[in-house]
Amino acid sequence: MIYVHVPFCRSKCAYCDFYSLPRIELAERYCDTIEAEWKWRRNETDGLLSRPTLYIGGGTPSALPRNLLQRIIELLATPDMTEITIEVNPEDVDSEFVRWLDDTPVSRVSMGIQSLRDEELTAVGRRHTASDALKALDLLTASRLDVSADLIYGLPGQTPASFASSLAELTARRPEHLSCYLLSYEPGTRLHAMRTRGRVSEATDTEAAEMFD
Ligand code: SF4
Repeated sequence: MIYVHVPFCRSKCAYCDFYSLPRIELAERYCDTIEAEWKWRRNETDGLLSRPTLYIGGGTPSALPRNLLQRIIELLATPDMTEITIEVNPEDVDSEFVRWLDDTPVSRVSMGIQSLRDEELTAVGRRHTASDALKALDLLTASRLDVSADLIYGLPGQTPASFASSLAELTARRPEHLSCYLLSYEPGTRLHAMRTRGRVSEATDTEAAEMFD
């Protein structure tokens, strides 16, 4: 797999410790460096990848201007790739974006939905609503693209019942793949500071285990 990290987001979610900056204005310069590095190092993969795939993750690749995203895909995608994945955020997915994706070699989309309860999304600073996520999911599952969706359990204010309802609404849309992650309070994140100040409390082990089940 060739993995490209797009280190830009529109804003920072409270729990996130992935490297990303809310500085999309740097994206063109970043693409220039990817292109330079690829020219310099592309021979390193010769003969090493039996099933070559490309994963464009982040950060928020879907926040990039379309021409820059196109540039990364054209630079790195090859006809022998068995899978090309791009990570997207629900607020960036509309019918025009899905039509555009359809004309690229991208075969799979991974979308961070995290919850289908607005109050849980707001608690961790997500930019989209549950309704945005469901619209995006409907557009993507109706397309030729394979869809992978992510949920988080253990969110502030979440209960086993509210998690179960997010899960049920999501799986009713039949995405090809679902990942569920237990929320972690990573040092240096806003969420970690909120817990230290007593503004949020972590799910108990019993609640987390119930949601996992
Ligand atoms: S959109 Fe994704 S990568 Fe960006 S801050 Fe939120 S969780 Fe992190």
